[in-house]
Amino acid sequence: MTEVNFFQDVQEQFDKASKFTAHAQGLLEQIRSCNGVYRMRFPVQLDDGNIHVVEAYRAEHSHHMMPTKGGVRYSADVTQDETMALATLMTFKCALAGVPFGGAKGGVCIDPRRHSLRELERITRRYAFELMKKNFLGPSMDVPAPDYGTSEREMAWIFDTYRALRPDDLNASACVTAKPLSLGGIPGRKEATGLGVYYGIRELFDDETLLQPLGLSRGVTGKSVIVQGLGNVGYHAALFFEQAGAKLVALAELEGALFNPAGLFLADVMVHRQRTGSICNFPGASNLTSAEALELPCDILIPAALQHQITKNNAPNINAKVVAEAANAPVTTAADEILREAGIIVVPDLFLNSGGVTVSYFEWLKNLEHVSFERLITRWERTVGERFAEALERLTGKSLDTEARRGLTHGPSEQDLVRGALEHTMTLAFRAMRELHRGRSLPDLRTAAWVLAIDRVAEVYERSGIFP
Ligand code: NAD
Repeated sequence: MTEVNFFQDVQEQFDKASKFTAHAQGLLEQIRSCNGVYRMRFPVQLDDGNIHVVEAYRAEHSHHMMPTKGGVRYSADVTQDETMALATLMTFKCALAGVPFGGAKGGVCIDPRRHSLRELERITRRYAFELMKKNFLGPSMDVPAPDYGTSEREMAWIFDTYRALRPDDLNASACVTAKPLSLGGIPGRKEATGLGVYYGIRELFDDETLLQPLGLSRGVTGKSVIVQGLGNVGYHAALFFEQAGAKLVALAELEGALFNPAGLFLADVMVHRQRTGSICNFPGASNLTSAEALELPCDILIPAALQHQITKNNAPNINAKVVAEAANAPVTTAADEILREAGIIVVPDLFLNSGGVTVSYFEWLKNLEHVSFERLITRWERTVGERFAEALERLTGKSLDTEARRGLTHGPSEQDLVRGALEHTMTLAFRAMRELHRGRSLPDLRTAAWVLAIDRVAEVYERSGIFP
């Protein structure tokens, strides 16, 4: 990581984009500001009996829509600046995806690999309790989700803590998203961010005008892909690109990276990692460092680990045609300019990794409705399909085979509905961003994403006349 200040870097992105808008300076200042940060320190007893004082944060960047929403990060590198930067990105990500939340983010300054399961549970429950004390947690206040270093396990602990302390809250399950299915989670949330990355890049690879200067043909099939970070986002992004026929030529993790120009099979690499504790020394592939993997030639480079992996120092060495920002802010503002001048398309985080919060929104709605979407719709869809199949057979005088009949009459599962809605959201957001990029001759897709998002947040204030 570099010395670039994350929060300042994000604010710089805002400032660059806001020059292309016509909003009053005071309003822009309000939209840009981080509304509130709760910094806490709490003691946790470790398994050996010692007391460890944990430093943690929750930043609520914008209250123009409530509740606020954003993940919780567990990392030894968590800082207040980082949490505020990530909360800022959440506000504009939500606006771009058309998800009615303000932006927030949480950070707990621990290395989760250095704690036992019981310690992690104590830390998580205490963090949730601290958030509740200050009204920084609740279905209508602030709704966390996983981020780097956390998963549905931590979300279950947060939910359980909230439920125990607010037993009278009928909507308690909507206090956190990406929960396990058994606690009111939604099918499709786990893979949502990675799948959204795939849908977003697929849209780009359908756009001849953007692809032509890069010398790329349409479609992701056969394209060479490099993924850095095989956690929730990176693993699922790699999986969906592989399933679509793209070639994974390099994969990078903390311990090192693998390169095989003929392609790597993700499942084999994951089994190898499980067996040996590392992705390195995979048969048929060469070993290199994660930083070196970023500089290999490829069509699509997917940094899916942490911020500031591509800086002004290594940007001149990037050999990709498209950089897909699956992580938050993997490219610094200075590096972004270098990539643009080199003719590389950067697909911005604000748009590309919004799949997670989009599906979290569906989960939150489901929890507030107290009913699954599948239950409401499937029987009706099946009946319509059966009527359609019968009419088709009557009109053609032919019988449909079993496969064709099932295709028409099976009705959607909740996962089908979630994936369909995610695909639709990513497609709409891409088209809006691309049209603005073209229509207003903006310098790049990132600027277009920011302008669109700023306009949408500004509209909420301007229309209501309310400045909360
Ligand atoms: P994760 O903890 O599940 O996975 C991150 C992975 O990156 C880990 O396996 C880690 O070992 C690896 N890693 C760390 N540093 C690395 C390096 N230098 N080189 C290679 N690998 C490295 O986290 P995640 O949830 O997948 O989040 C990844 C990024 O995506 C973060 O920037 C996060 O803010 C962003 N993001 C996550 C979500 C989500 O739904 N989880 C949504 C939007 C954005």
